[in-house]
Amino acid sequence: MAVRTCPHCKTEISAPQTAARSNDIECPKCGARLEVSQGPRTISSLAGLAAGAIAYQLSSGSTSDLGSVLPALYAILAFGVVSPVVLILMANLRNAPAVPVAVPSHASSTAGHGAGGHGGHH
Ligand SMILES: [Zn+2]
Repeated sequence: MAVRTCPHCKTEISAPQTAARSNDIECPKCGARLEVSQGPRTISSLAGLAAGAIAYQLSSGSTSDLGSVLPALYAILAFGVVSPVVLILMANLRNAPAVPVAVPSHASSTAGHGAGGHGGHH
């Protein structure tokens, strides 16, 4: 199993935490914002979809009364189980991008005021 470590301080980060909060993980030691890199997340989603499709195929052959419901149920369950498992197995961490800072827009508002309105021709 891949070991997830903080790129800053090499602290190991638990697998369940990685899977549960893959978009916003905080290093328990140095507080760095981390995220799971895109590749494994895409792969885990694809694996989940594939597992769901396989489960659907396998269960849709049944002719029981629940035959029309169970395939979808199995597909959802397969996706829900396989996708995070694959993510846990493959995930590695990278630095999350910095949180964007809102830039106040003084310039545009004053320009608009001078050039714009007040032009009411009576
Ligand atoms: Zn750290």
